[in-house]
Amino acid sequence: MKSVCLLGSTGSIGVSTLDVIRLNKNAYRVVALTANKNIGRLLEQCIEFKPTYAVVPDAELADAFRGKLERSDACETQVLSGMDSLEFVAKHSMTDIVVAAIVGAVGLLSTLAGAKAGKTILLANKESLVVSGDLLMSVVKQNGATLLPLDSEHNALFQCMPDAYKAGQRAEGVRKLILTASGGPFLNLNASELDNVTVEQACAHPNWSMGHKISVDSATMMNKGLELIEASYLFDMPAELIDVLIHPQSIVHSMIDYVDGSVLAQLGNPDMRTPIAHALAWPKRHESGVSALDFLVNNQLTFESASYEKFPCLRLAYEALDAKGTAPAILNAANEVAVEAFLAKELAFTGISTLIEQVLSITTVSPADSIESVLSADAEARQVAKNCLENG
Ligand code: NAD
Ligand code: MG
Repeated sequence: MKSVCLLGSTGSIGVSTLDVIRLNKNAYRVVALTANKNIGRLLEQCIEFKPTYAVVPDAELADAFRGKLERSDACETQVLSGMDSLEFVAKHSMTDIVVAAIVGAVGLLSTLAGAKAGKTILLANKESLVVSGDLLMSVVKQNGATLLPLDSEHNALFQCMPDAYKAGQRAEGVRKLILTASGGPFLNLNASELDNVTVEQACAHPNWSMGHKISVDSATMMNKGLELIEASYLFDMPAELIDVLIHPQSIVHSMIDYVDGSVLAQLGNPDMRTPIAHALAWPKRHESGVSALDFLVNNQLTFESASYEKFPCLRLAYEALDAKGTAPAILNAANEVAVEAFLAKELAFTGISTLIEQVLSITTVSPADSIESVLSADAEARQVAKNCLENG
């Protein structure tokens, strides 16, 4: 039996992870569940999975939550609060697997804590790799942690790597990585039609059901930009050896082009329970609840190039990856502020890339050689982005 610490259990990835665990009850025990706002869902999850720990954001919420748990049959669950408690459960001796499913750079410290403690990290929180790629990969290596990607593209690439492959290595014989992208809900609009798209339209992804932030990232294609940076660190590949290809059906989850002309791809229905089940069970396999791919229904697999004119965020991500140092952290922080402003209806959709470009042009890139330098670049970029927003 493996013990799972699920950081961000109430989100889209968190819920899908518990779906897979429910299907394979005898293989897993839940050590910790954590939530930010959706305390009602956390309560239901605690009653069903009876974790040793539940973590909420602050002491006041913890008191209220403790009261609710005491009146339920999950009364043995201990309630903790705050960022330190996320790190505490990630590195806890009972934890074998940390599922890092918090959204945003705020997930960085708990992901790092799990890596420092040599845990198996199932990484959904791509922002932590974008913000501190070299650092996180070296902490993983130095502490004998195992990093398995949950992001469907990176999980697909991992599945197409040679058997002995470990995260952070450059695999022999790889010519290129090909990241596929659905193109999001605005694939068929012209660049000029993007000015007036709404939050509701941006969050209505054609193939995947996800949290709001990543849905907006998919619509701007910053999601693919973040994934490009994620892939570069995970697979030790430079930007010029990672291509992005739009594949609107989201059936081919990514591909590796090998030097002998072989291309290996991983295919499946677009459902995050597949990469989650793969990484949970790795190196074995078990059920995910996802139905078999029907090639007679999905009988059209098409590919096209991505337009930088329509999706400037993708260009900005390539540039940030080339610039290295704290540039990806600055890109990510500016994007988080911009997406939040868009979701609050304070910024137009096309303003997202404009704001990020503005922040990147104002802020100085420095070496990302310590956690302090990364966190300070993140904080500074957020402040610059907020100032730009306020000053129009
Ligand atoms: P979501 O918004 O549905 O859930 C986010 C989770 O993080 C929630 O449990 C929330 O309580 C928690 N959280 C948010 N802010 C927090 C804070 N300040 N402190 C502590 N916890 C906090 O997001 P999601 O779609 O599940 O995505 C989670 C991560 O997985 C993101 O990094 C996303 O890019 C990545 N990812 C998601 C998908 C998907 O299909 N949803 C696919 C690939 C990668
Ligand atoms: Mg993805």
